[in-house]
Amino acid sequence: MDKVTPKDVFAANRDRTAPLLARLKADGIGHLIDGKIVPSISGATFETKSPIDNAVLATVARGSPEDIDRAATAAAQAFKAWRDMPAAMRKKLLHRVADAIEDRADDIAVLECIDTGQAHRFMAKAAVRAAENFRFFADKCAEARDGLNMPDNEHWNISTRVPIGPVGVITPWNTPFMLSTWKIAPALAAGCTVVHKPAEWSPVTADLLAKLVKQAGVPDGVLNTVHGIGEEAGKALTEHRAIKAIAFVGETATGAAIMAQGAPSLKRVHFELGGKNPVIVFDDADLDRALDAVVFMIYSLNGERCTSSSRLLIQQNIADKFIERLTARVRALKVGHPLDPATEIGPLIHQRHLEKVCAYFDVARNDGAVIAVGGKPHDGPGGGHYVQPTLVTGAHAKMRVAQEEVFGPFLTVIPFRDENDAIEIANSVQYGLTGYVWTCDMGRALRVADALEAGMIWLNSENVRHLPTPFGGMKSSGIGRDGGDYSFDFYMETKHVSLAKGTHKIQRLGLEPGI
Ligand code: NAD
Repeated sequence: MDKVTPKDVFAANRDRTAPLLARLKADGIGHLIDGKIVPSISGATFETKSPIDNAVLATVARGSPEDIDRAATAAAQAFKAWRDMPAAMRKKLLHRVADAIEDRADDIAVLECIDTGQAHRFMAKAAVRAAENFRFFADKCAEARDGLNMPDNEHWNISTRVPIGPVGVITPWNTPFMLSTWKIAPALAAGCTVVHKPAEWSPVTADLLAKLVKQAGVPDGVLNTVHGIGEEAGKALTEHRAIKAIAFVGETATGAAIMAQGAPSLKRVHFELGGKNPVIVFDDADLDRALDAVVFMIYSLNGERCTSSSRLLIQQNIADKFIERLTARVRALKVGHPLDPATEIGPLIHQRHLEKVCAYFDVARNDGAVIAVGGKPHDGPGGGHYVQPTLVTGAHAKMRVAQEEVFGPFLTVIPFRDENDAIEIANSVQYGLTGYVWTCDMGRALRVADALEAGMIWLNSENVRHLPTPFGGMKSSGIGRDGGDYSFDFYMETKHVSLAKGTHKIQRLGLEPGI
């Protein structure tokens, strides 16, 4: 048999995509409310375009506060039956969702590429990871209500957990399918019903997820998806009184706005926000592996990744040599069409985001840093929002390119003297999501891990996600943790129940005649 070449895979990806896009264009994207695909009450729509060539992919229903109200009401009505469904049944349904996702994994991968510009090599597994999210939490349905046993002399005390109620899930446009399942699966496993407001720049796979959940037999109203603009549909969701909590993934400034919007209804919030994450490379590290990880963690997923290591802190005495090797690797990165399996960097999500990323080229120059590689838009296939992978050297910790989240394939290199200097620079930003440390001195690795102000730290590794572990950030990078049992802390209320053994003395009042 002939060997399958990257060209063949590219052609096969295009062939798979064409009928899906034709269908999408013909059908458009509606909301899923109470089990039905519906237009907005007002009839308002917006267009979603591909970042590859700005082609219109679909007309999308533009949700208003009235649509959110319909969805929140449906979620509230469906809540009791979903909460009280035996855990084994909920588990079965969530496994069915995982099956449905796996069946459509190849379609989800190509649609995600076309809608977001992410390269197929990374999106090929996105649906598989999304299905894993559903399976992992499906298996935890039964233990979600577990609590503690805390006996005292006169009372038997137990705690139990109950789902908080209908919740809102608001998600961003980077890897939207995987991220949405990461929030929705634990919420459903806990027994909550959900109103999902996906990002307006990437509605395509959220629509598919809604349909797959319905197809799997999850009852009407348990998952509702309302498309629309953040300041309209998103805001209304955060303000709705039937919605008890908001799980939000997105920018730090939006998180702050959501906290204010949700305050009058005392909304519980869970925030996964921005990052300016350091990768610290010491002179005793395995430099070959460190180099691979440094390149991967900022240039994969177009650098549109909250956990990307966008600051390289490199020990001064090895900086020149390491930067020389890094420069060669960044120059060789392949920018191209997202469906081409050879592509390492695709177009950025939107013209406005391209402009934001490109504005940092001047910021770097004006700060006095050096653009060692890149620094320009890229003329890619389709003429979309391509940008050259960019490497900035000669930076110091106070520069804007060392402080602000660019959220693109843009790496800032900062040299450091010693361990204390590295820690000080690493912690000198408002963010605290992840940190990566490369050293063969295990004592130092642990000291630095202890000192870093970040919610997640990898030692001698890139980001490798393990679902039971806590995921989340410190400082301006977030509030709360996801993953394993941590997710249930957010989607559930802990309730204390105390049972008297019947032996304790109860104070007796009102025995004497009153005045
Ligand atoms: P964004 O904050 O602009 O939008 C995210 C979502 O919030 C969208 O659905 C948007 O419509 C909605 N929204 C906007 N304004 C709103 C409002 N006032 N009320 C309610 N909803 C509103 O973020 P983005 O540009 O889509 O995504 C990129 C950001 O997400 C980056 O900062 C990145 O670091 C962050 N992110 C964080 C994580 C994490 O786990 N920490 C993961 C992925 C992305």
